[in-house]
Amino acid sequence: MKGADGDVEAEYRSLVEQVNEHRRRYYQLDAPTVSDSEYDDLERRLVEIEQAHPDLVSAESPTATVGGARSEMFDPVEHLQQMYSLDNAFDADELAAWAQRIENTLGSVPNLLCELKVDGLAVDLVYRDGRLVSLATRGDGRVGEDVTNNAQFISSIPDRLRASDADLPVPSLLEVRGEVFFPISTFDGINAHVMEQGRTPFANPRNAAAGTLRQRVDRRLDDLAAAQSRRGELQKSGHATERIDQRVDRLAADADRATGQLAGLQLVVHGIGDRAGYDPVTLSESYAAMASWGLPTSRHTTVQPSMADVVAFIDHFHEHRHDVEHEIDGVVVKVDSISDQGALGATSRAPRWAIAYKYPAEVVTTTLEDIRVNVGRTGRVTPFGVMAPVRVAGSTVQMATLHNASEVERKGVLIGDRVFLRKAGDVIPEIIGPVVEVRTGSERPFTMPTRCPECSTPLAPEKEGDADIRCPNTRSCPAQLRERLFHLSGRGAFDIEGLGYKAAVALLDCGLVVDEGDVFALDAEALIRCPFFTRATPDGATLSANATVLLDQLGLARDRPLWRVLVALSIRHVGPTAAQALARELFTIDAIMAADHDTLAGVDGVGTIIADSVIEWFAVDWHRSIVDRWRDCGVRMADPVPDGQAPGLLSGLTLVVTGSLAGMTRDEAQEAVTAAGGKASGSVSGKTDYVVAGANAGSKLAKAESLGVRVIDEEQFGILLAHGPEALT
Ligand code: NAD
Repeated sequence: MKGADGDVEAEYRSLVEQVNEHRRRYYQLDAPTVSDSEYDDLERRLVEIEQAHPDLVSAESPTATVGGARSEMFDPVEHLQQMYSLDNAFDADELAAWAQRIENTLGSVPNLLCELKVDGLAVDLVYRDGRLVSLATRGDGRVGEDVTNNAQFISSIPDRLRASDADLPVPSLLEVRGEVFFPISTFDGINAHVMEQGRTPFANPRNAAAGTLRQRVDRRLDDLAAAQSRRGELQKSGHATERIDQRVDRLAADADRATGQLAGLQLVVHGIGDRAGYDPVTLSESYAAMASWGLPTSRHTTVQPSMADVVAFIDHFHEHRHDVEHEIDGVVVKVDSISDQGALGATSRAPRWAIAYKYPAEVVTTTLEDIRVNVGRTGRVTPFGVMAPVRVAGSTVQMATLHNASEVERKGVLIGDRVFLRKAGDVIPEIIGPVVEVRTGSERPFTMPTRCPECSTPLAPEKEGDADIRCPNTRSCPAQLRERLFHLSGRGAFDIEGLGYKAAVALLDCGLVVDEGDVFALDAEALIRCPFFTRATPDGATLSANATVLLDQLGLARDRPLWRVLVALSIRHVGPTAAQALARELFTIDAIMAADHDTLAGVDGVGTIIADSVIEWFAVDWHRSIVDRWRDCGVRMADPVPDGQAPGLLSGLTLVVTGSLAGMTRDEAQEAVTAAGGKASGSVSGKTDYVVAGANAGSKLAKAESLGVRVIDEEQFGILLAHGPEALT
């Protein structure tokens, strides 16, 4: 028993130490070495032990305090009212338990304010007589760090408040709470710069915002001014200024970068502290007042009358998490009435009247166990990271592309590194960069192979200066062939169900397919020679279901529209959009093969790069032989020329299909548009006539709305296809 207690005590001590160290790294250095979810797990375990063994709670325990200590780099600022952290809910039950506690105190659940939990850092602003007198970080909640000097560079922080409503004069004292954050696009630029300097990239926009705001830009400007004045003196006295010129240039660039980064920061208001001459009844009312005085508030904040509505808000933003201009890591739910807030009060670290509902983590750390290379369909050799499997944003991730050798270098990752890994929703996993601080010295750099790992052909960039290197053995490199076979059977090409990855490998291994030109010549006689397509019976091997499916599907594939044939050929840059454009204007493969550069480049949606690529592709003998062999096997190489007398119902119209439609796939919808004489485009612009929005339509729908493009649903799309635009009222 004693032994078990001793174990708990040892675990507890170690956790206190770890959590305090992670807090120091996070709050003071803006450079965490673990992800937030890993940190949250440690803190939760600590709280669990403290609840089970209150006798163990030590004076150093971080659980009762807000954030971390202040950095000595800044002057201290005492907040007029204490700033708090927030308690967290990680699931619906924890949220419901919070609501229950509110109900127990107030007798019912009152109106709740739902706000996005912006991934930035909390700041405290004090306005006296409408003038900004202090900008400070949260610090330990009572005393923060003075960063007032930096406020002048952040344009969304007004230095003066002005009344826009005569009934709402600016109060004589106003303490504002808000979040300073980077919009997502700015964050990426900052990390690129950090990595150029060989430093650990910021794991999230919050660390980047904190690292940027917590800079002594005033000192940099002082150093610059001092160097400039020294240069002036040297110039006056006729001395050489070469060295000081260099120093001035360096300091000026440094100051420019620092002020430029600050300018990228934005503020959003999410609370009110001390005030004089203003007495709001609700928090939402105070937001409206602060907006009227020129402070930036969030357009996403809403008051919800019931917990069911709160849950709907949380679910909505979970789904649309990446449609917001900044990162969010959850939703903050607050009791709106200020007197109710007072009745509920706060613990030493968090108010009881608010809770942060946190979404699943999208950034984790893991070990980069190896970097290997993959040879793609067009011979491009792509390094990818193999990592210790890790769960992130709802799925387990073990591999992430690193694109090319310069990207590996830019990210500065070594094999064996601990790395930050990000996977935002459905987005492809991305290695953000190494945790430089925890290197042990056993990590080793990756070297790009000089020969193809599959066929040993020497690798080379195609053109001087290309970042990518390729295997030039395009016809028979097994990796390229495998990928091309898999591609030609894909849903965006011939859509041959029986030709998956395993079948492609089997056909190549058995020698039934030497290149993709052989695919349509496959028949029962050939497939019986390949064990993958047979099954054993007492009378010997017969064709398996795999074979029957493949042969049936090949039959169907012979009659696909021309654009699918073009995609299946693996001509570089020719995806469905370009292929559809070529097929729409030129109708036959022979016309495409015969077309000169200007004709191809003149096709709407094609352009010179694709035209070059098409011409280069058809100039190769074995490429043309693929076309010939497919044609000999009955593959349709032309689309019917539309009747000139009767232009399609959608002639002259451009449509974009987005989201998922219930009755047809995206490809089928695009084909239907093309068949009706319309243009199916992949991106929304001012030239788009209709956007067909299916379920879960995302950014294209938003763009259509912002451009005022008409958005139609699936039913209206059906009407449009059947009867033309006049039928849509
Ligand atoms: P928090 O981030 O969980 O919640 C409180 C903060 O939310 C507030 O201070 C404010 O800055 C912010 N916020 C954003 N939008 C808001 C809104 N609309 N209304 C109110 N507040 C809003 O708490 P915290 O104390 O700042 O930080 C704790 C968290 O930090 C941990 O859960 C962990 O995820 C992370 N952390 C990570 C490490 C690490 O090493 N990775 C170390 C320490 C802390």
